[in-house]
Amino acid sequence: MNFDEIKHMYDDFVLSTYTRQDLCLVAGRGIWVEDINGKKYLDFFPGWAVSGIGHCHPEVISEMKGQMERILHVSNNFYSDVQPVLAKKIIEYSFPGKVFFANSGAEANEGAIKLARRYGKPGRYEIITMEKSFHGRTLATLTATGQEKIKKGFSPLVEGFKHVPFNDIDALKNALTEKTVAIMLEPIQGEGGINVADLGYMKAISAMCREKDILLIVDEVQTGMGRTGKMFAYSHFGIEPDIMTLAKALGGGMPIGALVVNNKHKDVLSAGTHATTFGGSPIVCSAALGVFRAIEEEGLLDNTIKMGKYLVQKVEDLKKSNPMIKGIKGKGLMIGVELDIEDASAITEECVKEGLLINCTQKNILRVMPPMTVKKEDIDVAIDKLTRALGRI
Ligand SMILES: *Cc1c(COP(=O)(O)O)cnc(C)c1O
Repeated sequence: MNFDEIKHMYDDFVLSTYTRQDLCLVAGRGIWVEDINGKKYLDFFPGWAVSGIGHCHPEVISEMKGQMERILHVSNNFYSDVQPVLAKKIIEYSFPGKVFFANSGAEANEGAIKLARRYGKPGRYEIITMEKSFHGRTLATLTATGQEKIKKGFSPLVEGFKHVPFNDIDALKNALTEKTVAIMLEPIQGEGGINVADLGYMKAISAMCREKDILLIVDEVQTGMGRTGKMFAYSHFGIEPDIMTLAKALGGGMPIGALVVNNKHKDVLSAGTHATTFGGSPIVCSAALGVFRAIEEEGLLDNTIKMGKYLVQKVEDLKKSNPMIKGIKGKGLMIGVELDIEDASAITEECVKEGLLINCTQKNILRVMPPMTVKKEDIDVAIDKLTRALGRI
């Protein structure tokens, strides 16, 4: 099949819920992907942050190959010898508690919302989330999401959600009622435009939650698994949440989500209250174990911090000669480049022509999130490509 035939098949048989870039990707290794015509691209937004350690990482592949020869799926009414090993790994890097495995970010967040409802019953059910947040596309998680465009047309929405401006502690305090059971936020808003929570803000929320017995839920679906230079981004802030959700990079390309619950709340979702057929299957858990191994053995947290600094320095240099760049924000290798332009999608298009994949969010923020395995040479090449792309705008 050639690309035109493929596009026709999409038109005929695949629901048109996505706006796609005009590219058909057929192969990927590390930081590079290849399209159907054999053209190669440097991938600085690998799989929407899913391929956080690069495409087809050898550790992920080898873990999965071993597991494939044994068993692919074990239902959750049996024990498996892989699932608890991954749960233990996640707990060792976060806080004492337990893990529930889901299949996506939305599902992990849905679990967090259900847990909050059960914890607060009967009188407390309200969950406060942030404007510009993103928590998923299921009915409850799109209600939790603080962006109108995501909710449009899906009323009636789930009851009991409120949004307040991000990084505004007074707005949050004013929104609290005796019905408030949880506060849910991303430590760094991804879809919202790479907005980093202030240190004092996170500390104040954490203290307030402790004092009022409100659950602190951090959505680390995008920030988790080392992306910001720490395994989980909340630890930049010297706080510990009650609940953390993970997905995207956790499976190294495989679909997996996780709901991580601290010891105090580990029994709220008791037997029979929550379940999913595919959750925590051995094959996806083995992939996630490969991700942890790669991060540990290749020192990828360290590399993320170093390369993050290098990348920011390079963009700062570019900013000096390019007035279109207004600002740079983010942490580790989760970087947003703010542009003085109404709609930056033309720039991502020009980057594609140059052979560079990046993302644009909130219309004017370039989102740059290369694999944590990225090297200086890759960054130099990407900056050259970006410079040429910007020059044509
Ligand atoms: C992507 C994302 C989600 C949703 O994850 P899905 O796997 O697409 O359901 C939730 N929260 C954040 C912060 C995300 O970036």
